[in-house]
Amino acid sequence: MTATLLSDANQRLEKALQYVTIHEDAIERLKFPKASLTVSIPVRMDDGSLRVFQGYRVRYDDSRGPTKGGVRFHPSVTLDEVQSLAFWMTFKCAALSIPFGGAKGGITLNPKELSKFELERLSRGYIDLIADFIGPDIDIPAPDVYTNPMIMGWMMDQYSTIRRQITPAVVTGKPLTMGGSLGRETATAMGAFFTIQTLMPKYDRRPEETTVAVQGFGNAGSVIAELLFRAGYKVVAVSDSQGGVYAPEGLDIPSIRQFKESTRGIKAVYCKGTVCNSIDHEVLTNAELLELDVDILVPAALENQITGENAARIRAPFIFEVANGPITSAADQILEEKGIQVFPDILVNAGGVTVSYFEWVQNRCGYYWSLEEVNQRLKEKMTRETELIWVISHELSCSMRTAAYVHALKRLAEAIEAKGTRDDYTS
Ligand code: NAD
Repeated sequence: MTATLLSDANQRLEKALQYVTIHEDAIERLKFPKASLTVSIPVRMDDGSLRVFQGYRVRYDDSRGPTKGGVRFHPSVTLDEVQSLAFWMTFKCAALSIPFGGAKGGITLNPKELSKFELERLSRGYIDLIADFIGPDIDIPAPDVYTNPMIMGWMMDQYSTIRRQITPAVVTGKPLTMGGSLGRETATAMGAFFTIQTLMPKYDRRPEETTVAVQGFGNAGSVIAELLFRAGYKVVAVSDSQGGVYAPEGLDIPSIRQFKESTRGIKAVYCKGTVCNSIDHEVLTNAELLELDVDILVPAALENQITGENAARIRAPFIFEVANGPITSAADQILEEKGIQVFPDILVNAGGVTVSYFEWVQNRCGYYWSLEEVNQRLKEKMTRETELIWVISHELSCSMRTAAYVHALKRLAEAIEAKGTRDDYTS
């Protein structure tokens, strides 16, 4: 799967280049990651044995500032995957006008097979090996799939131990008491919610008439499902890695979240008065969820979910990419031909990195904002950049994805060109 990810990501760049003139030096620079580090992390397991895990950190481009990007713990992590995720981070930060470049990290493992002690040793071991590659003014890790605030706290603590000074700004997504920001845990979903609220009225869609299916019920998926539910949308299907539930009349998302937290599984839950019944039988697979006849589809799990194989069967007229790279470029074309509007990951899920940026700012000035302030600033940023990308897509008659790349490319090219191009050296 991942062998084609970076070249697939580069195809989006190629497409955007048809709509914007930027200097060839900038294009050449953006085709390759700046630096990629591969590490082997030895971990003493609880039974006394030693296991070595492969880890990666990639800094794709830092023309606009220190690089920024999450760390993923997943069995399918490869260098190619991390490089393409770092590419997307570069464009995401530029699209949102965040003064960061793009990076990503990952360790190849199934975290569910490790105890908490083992995970802590692994997280600290990873930082030991990449400590010279990261830093508040170099590269700032954050959470991603199967990593969480506690893991970010371990990583910050280990970096601080190595440097012999408390350095909260080296990692974002930390626990609040270790310098985390209010609103960071819900930021990705909150940002996506603001994008949906900005765009849906343009299509005369009201929440109460709009059905939604959400794939993935983690940090991003479960929160966006609840935000949409509370705003009056009819969330009819949700799923996690084990499968999902579907109810045409709408699901009670807060109860499902509660159920998921207590049992780690997803079940449809119906409440009457104070009594809730969990229903088992409306189970559907992740493939079925993607093909449901709903108004909005929200992929919020992993990449490569909608491909050339299943794109023709997708029925939702609107797709909001909360996951990174859930749609391949081959699928993009099929969806476009079907008239399906895709709102791209580099815009829709940028709330996470935006509040990570806010966390970094708060760490550096040592003054912490209220939740209202965080959400207000997030709303302003998401709404402004969504509107700008919308205008570009209409001016250039191109998809929102291409418009988002054009928007980001202009900012990236400006930063790269500011250091001088061939024109400056040969005239
Ligand atoms: P998470 O680990 O909290 O949750 C992942 C969810 O996906 C879980 O519910 C898991 O069961 C489910 N899942 C895993 N494999 C699946 C499969 N094959 N089919 C369906 N569901 C599956 O991760 P997260 O932080 O919610 O991230 C989800 C996506 O959002 C990723 O693509 C991530 O890169 C992206 N994202 C996350 C953030 C963030 O701040 N957390 C920011 C930007 C983008």
